[in-house]
Amino acid sequence: MSVSICPCGSGNLLDACCGHYHAGQAAPDARTLMRSRYSAYVLGQLDYLVATTLPVQQPGLDLEAIAQWSAQSTWLGLEVEGAEVFGGQPEHAFVSFSARWHDQAGEHCHRERSSFVQHQGRWYFIDPTVPLKAGRNDNCPCASGQKFKKCCSSYLTR
Ligand SMILES: [Zn+2]
Ligand SMILES: [Zn+2]
Repeated sequence: MSVSICPCGSGNLLDACCGHYHAGQAAPDARTLMRSRYSAYVLGQLDYLVATTLPVQQPGLDLEAIAQWSAQSTWLGLEVEGAEVFGGQPEHAFVSFSARWHDQAGEHCHRERSSFVQHQGRWYFIDPTVPLKAGRNDNCPCASGQKFKKCCSSYLTR
């Protein structure tokens, strides 16, 4: 048990907040998944960052770069600006947020509108830096069983 405050900025204890999801519980929505991924960056929990990326993209992640970034940055805070949730099967969502950190080069603020998809009860981050290799009429790489053009293709942010 840890008594530290959760880095996601909720003001709650880590164990009562993102700690649940880091321990394996499914995040109930994309916004919560986003917050728990931010705290995983702060805590250096790379396994969690991998596990919550769209499974087909996981082998394409540059773990060394992520580890370096996570270790060399001092995280200053997360602000979730909004979540757009779309119905449908599977569910998709965008989460807009800004994250602040500093490193040797100074202070940075990164603003992003990230894309998420739900699959079998779990939300996954669709990483825009890992290309999804599928034709418009192929089965969607998220394994929804739908055509790519009708599924994740229309929710890609880039
Ligand atoms: Zn949290
Ligand atoms: Zn899809």
